[in-house]
Amino acid sequence: MPQNLLDFDLEGLTAWFTELGEKPFRARQVFHWIHQSGVTDFAQMTDIARSLRETLPQRAVVQAPAISFAHTSADGTRKWLFDVGVANGIETVFIPEDDRGTLCVSSQVGCALECTFCSTGRQGFNRNLTVAEIIGQLWVAQHSLKTEPNRTTGEIADRPVSNVVMMGMGEPLANFENVVTALGIMLDDHAYGLSRRRVTVSTSGLVPAMDRLAERCPVALAVSLHAPNDALRDQIVPINRKYPLAELMAACRRYLVHAPRDFITFEYVMLAGVNDQPEHARQLIGLTRDVPCKFNLIPFNPFPESGYEKPRAEPMRVFRQILQDAGYVVTTRKTRGDDIDAACGQLAGKVADKSGRVMKRMRKEAA
Ligand code: SAH
Ligand code: SF4
Repeated sequence: MPQNLLDFDLEGLTAWFTELGEKPFRARQVFHWIHQSGVTDFAQMTDIARSLRETLPQRAVVQAPAISFAHTSADGTRKWLFDVGVANGIETVFIPEDDRGTLCVSSQVGCALECTFCSTGRQGFNRNLTVAEIIGQLWVAQHSLKTEPNRTTGEIADRPVSNVVMMGMGEPLANFENVVTALGIMLDDHAYGLSRRRVTVSTSGLVPAMDRLAERCPVALAVSLHAPNDALRDQIVPINRKYPLAELMAACRRYLVHAPRDFITFEYVMLAGVNDQPEHARQLIGLTRDVPCKFNLIPFNPFPESGYEKPRAEPMRVFRQILQDAGYVVTTRKTRGDDIDAACGQLAGKVADKSGRVMKRMRKEAA
């Protein structure tokens, strides 16, 4: 099997080239061609010795996951569904805004953590994505988008993806090594050169892995809180039974020691009548008092047989106001790309529908 070079960070690629008897700068050149120029054909890597260009194809490939579906919604949100093996789909979403372009990246096929309101969690866990499959999502997005004008600004950006959030399918910290290697490539100036604060890992709260991330790669951290007390969080985010809130808050404080002047973003999915009452907002204030943080309130995105409902506008407004009055910065996630099910986990969930009916319908719509 040829080696997929998308699986390597620069260090790994250098080691691989050294084994071939090549100098380290060769690795840097190839790394630039792959990640900065989007080139997969070794023959086009013109500054590399001809003999190497000719032998590389026997040993290596540059292979991103295959696109099975790509679609842009009316508001410019773009979504890809990647084929990562039999009946397996993962999704990636690009959200263009005036001042940035954010890519939402998946880390696993399915997820083992079974949060009750999450369509990915309901699908169960299938497998971890490889480094090539994780960084391949950014590779595809960056290099396909840079040939298109931005829908909002009309400009053709050299690097359309300015921010990455690990908020697609899966729990990134449960696929720790592959995610950290992929993050390293995102931050590397020889590849995408994203700054540490423009890359966000979202976790449901795997406490030991949060500590390891702080040491290895302290990017921006979002923590999926969703409940202000253990009794409620035990029910909707089951990993809370293993790492309860007091431990989670302590881990957040430790994380910020490694990421000075940063803050934690607490994500909070609003589930009507479950966690959206004024009392819940007041409890959150007590819980997070010692953690520099801001809140991102996410209206629940319904899917069939979830058993939950979207919150109504008034309870959300009251909830937000209570937090703001206590001095918190609160954002509310806009729903975007609704017409293409851009909410994380939703499209792939449909594809997992064994009959493949939905997939066929989507291909027809996209054609
Ligand atoms: N596993 C990680 C990252 C992926 S989920 C985590 O849980 O943080 C990314 C975000 O989408 C999380 O905050 C998650 O709680 C939220 N989410 C999952 N299902 C949702 C739904 N149906 N509606 C709205 N947000 C949802
Ligand atoms: Fe997994 Fe995150 Fe979904 Fe929970 S919310 S099941 S951790 S993907």
